[in-house]
Amino acid sequence: MEVKKIEKTIELDDGRQTKFEFSQCNNEGFKEEQIDYTIELIQNYLKKYKGLVINRVTDFSANTGDFYKDAHGKSYDDMSELGKYYYAQEEIQLNHIRTSRMPFQENEFIKRIETYATKVYKVESIIDQMKYHAMKARVPFENLKTIFAEDPVGKKFIEDLHENDILTNPLEDGICSIYLIRKLEFQECIKRIMIHEIGHAIADQYGITDDQGIKSLYQKYEKDFEDIDEFIAECFMASEFASNIKVASNVRGIINKYTNVWE
Ligand SMILES: [Zn+2]
Repeated sequence: MEVKKIEKTIELDDGRQTKFEFSQCNNEGFKEEQIDYTIELIQNYLKKYKGLVINRVTDFSANTGDFYKDAHGKSYDDMSELGKYYYAQEEIQLNHIRTSRMPFQENEFIKRIETYATKVYKVESIIDQMKYHAMKARVPFENLKTIFAEDPVGKKFIEDLHENDILTNPLEDGICSIYLIRKLEFQECIKRIMIHEIGHAIADQYGITDDQGIKSLYQKYEKDFEDIDEFIAECFMASEFASNIKVASNVRGIINKYTNVWE
């Protein structure tokens, strides 16, 4: 059972360097093609974000030298964590056992996310109209919510919200955005995980976490995210895949101001 190391370094014209270190064993770990795509992706983000530094991209085995388990003996295969950004080292690590089994590119759902978002926001506008009519008729909205839940399409949507761990009241403001971001977050592909980790790097290195606008946005959706770092990283990722997810676009607007990247 021999572990093979693959090491590559890229350097940009301005001198920024990124080291890539991956390991392979028994036909597991990243394949050459996945590594090439990952390098290309990082290179594109570095070119776009001139202040971004990623010193190293590696896999979980880099910390312990063990291909299958972490320092506590826990198997990477059993870990829910797929990737991690190390703030002090400015380094991205991937759970090589789990992520190397995924395709690199976005799958069908990610390709269709913008169209899907349009449909979901249509539901949101129906909810808003129902709220408005309930208010005018002085009918408690809770009753309409019940009616909505009895409609087959509405029922499916509400069930889906619960299944996707959306903890807020299903009819709360911004819930459709959270639903769409969560849907994306569950899609398994390397590109999505990488972009999420790059989001952490951008948020930290450009000081976005300290922005007042970001802080007040986060307060509204606090219960749907682990912390403010996760909120920014998930919104950045979502905004990369769809331009019409409202909460993600708001976060992205703030990121654009700090990074001066407008595409
Ligand atoms: Zn994260």
